[in-house]
Amino acid sequence: MKLQYKTSLTMTVLFLILFAGITGMFDFYNHETVRRQVQNNYEDIAQTVANHAEVHLLSSADVSQTISSAPLLTEALIASNRAYESLDGDQRQKQIDDLDRQWQQTKDPAAPFIQAYLNTPAARYLSSQQDLFPGQYGEIFLTNRYGAMIATTGRLTTLAHGHKYWWQAAFAEGRGRIFFDDRGFDTSVGGYVLGVVVPIRNQGEIIGILKCNINLLGRLTHLLEDFKLAHGGELQIVRSSGLVVLREGLEPLSETLPGSFHPHLQKRVSDAFFYKGPDGYDQLIATTPIAITKGSDTYGFGGSYKSMDHIKGNTGEAWHVLISVGQELVYHEAHVTTRALVYLGLILLVFVLLISLYWGRWVARPVVELAQAARKIGAGHLETRVHEIGRDEIGDLARAINEMSSSLARNMASRRELEQEVTLRSKAQAELERRAIVDELTGAYNRRYFAEAMNKEIARAGRYGQPLSLLMFDIDHFKKVNDIHGHDAGDRVLIQLAELGMNIVREQDFFARWGGEEFVVILPQTDLAASTLFAERLRLMVEQADFKKPARLTISIGLAQLDSLEQEDDLLKRVDNALYKAKQSGRNCVVAG
Ligand code: GH3
Ligand code: MG
Ligand code: MG
Repeated sequence: MKLQYKTSLTMTVLFLILFAGITGMFDFYNHETVRRQVQNNYEDIAQTVANHAEVHLLSSADVSQTISSAPLLTEALIASNRAYESLDGDQRQKQIDDLDRQWQQTKDPAAPFIQAYLNTPAARYLSSQQDLFPGQYGEIFLTNRYGAMIATTGRLTTLAHGHKYWWQAAFAEGRGRIFFDDRGFDTSVGGYVLGVVVPIRNQGEIIGILKCNINLLGRLTHLLEDFKLAHGGELQIVRSSGLVVLREGLEPLSETLPGSFHPHLQKRVSDAFFYKGPDGYDQLIATTPIAITKGSDTYGFGGSYKSMDHIKGNTGEAWHVLISVGQELVYHEAHVTTRALVYLGLILLVFVLLISLYWGRWVARPVVELAQAARKIGAGHLETRVHEIGRDEIGDLARAINEMSSSLARNMASRRELEQEVTLRSKAQAELERRAIVDELTGAYNRRYFAEAMNKEIARAGRYGQPLSLLMFDIDHFKKVNDIHGHDAGDRVLIQLAELGMNIVREQDFFARWGGEEFVVILPQTDLAASTLFAERLRLMVEQADFKKPARLTISIGLAQLDSLEQEDDLLKRVDNALYKAKQSGRNCVVAG
């Protein structure tokens, strides 16, 4: 991989690791922060809803108290109490039990005994209050100081109420407090009721108890709707036991939350926690108890006072506002931020990639230049130099390459000089050698070399028993050439003649200048017949050649074949004689000796 891309890749990978790390850490802390924030938010919302619910309960208590404060009721109670006061405890209880029995046995509501409770001024007053708030109230009824009912808006099941937990909770052994009777489902009204039980006082003494059954859930339903949460969060009111009092679309008290909620609901303070449902779906739960339902000296709540008279369980638990939100909604914002960060990272990645590519090229450029220079130097361009940029390792390498190329250039120059010297010397040597064996004017072998070659060839002919012929020729009337055309022209004729002779001899033959205008030719492996033919051919060629000055020339040739056991001198003598004979015979001819 190229250095440029390596650098670029390293930068990009480093960026990715760094960015992934930062994003991961940010995501973790962001999740934590958002979780804490959302937790606090939902605790706050739960608290607000709880406050509103409490306001509804308190206003119900206020209205009930206002109803109870009518002088008409006080008068009726004082009269009723007075009638019972004169009796001792047992007689009073017996009278109440008798009346209660008669009440339960009299089924006809129109009977005068029943009407005596439904149609008194006090009863009519209570009915008028009921009519003031249509749909809001169930029965309203009044009991005297001893629990005996003296007025009611409807036909109840009993007349005696002093033994009931709500009555005793409101009476509170004479101290008196407003008691919210969370009865739950009540068959008498065919629905969920919350009884507001108000003690009525006269001169500091409790003279009676008024109970108003209120359809509070309707109002609380509106409350929950007002606080309907965004993102599908669910709002509900539950009892400490987990029994659901109010949830949209659910029959009150028909469902209980799982046991894992109990510890949180028992805390009786605001709480938030994560809960994994049976479907594995994580939820954030925030709970806040409605303060007034926890009970106090002023207000009581529930039904735990000794007995229960309702169908569905009521153990005097407080009410809690409970909010549940899906975890992905809790982290929605965190996810949005993280996603934005990832997008930003991708955009930055493109930038980093471009910058790293540019950076990689910048880093690799001097190295590429150095490599190109090294290649050029390798190819013999020793004048190549690179830029010595920077004082770093690459700059150092550039300097080293420059030093190397100059040093190589110097070495090459001296080597070339040496080679030239050697060439010159060997040429001079060759020239010397050539001069030692060649005649300077004509280029033919000189007489000395001829003598050497003659010796060798005679020895070789003897050794192998091969024929050898020697031929000598002399230019006819050469003096005249010099005389007529000058010595230089004579030289040129000699040169041309030697060229001609050297051209027609075979490779193994020796053509040599004997001296002056006389030449000799050694013809190894050639007998007299063959050498005569050769001599004749030579003679004819000279005769026909154009020598310019003069145009025509002839030669006389003497030749002889070496006899066995014959010495060089004898052969030469024979050839010389043959040449002499040729001159005598009128020149331009060949004579064998
Ligand atoms: P012929 O051989 O036919 O009897 O007559 P010739 O005139 O050729 O007589 P000879 O062979 O005796 O003469 C040789 C002459 O060649 C003598 C000399 O002036 C001339 N000569 C010898 N060497 C050279 C040379 O190197 N250059 C020139 N120009 N002439 C030379
Ligand atoms: Mg001569
Ligand atoms: Mg001659």
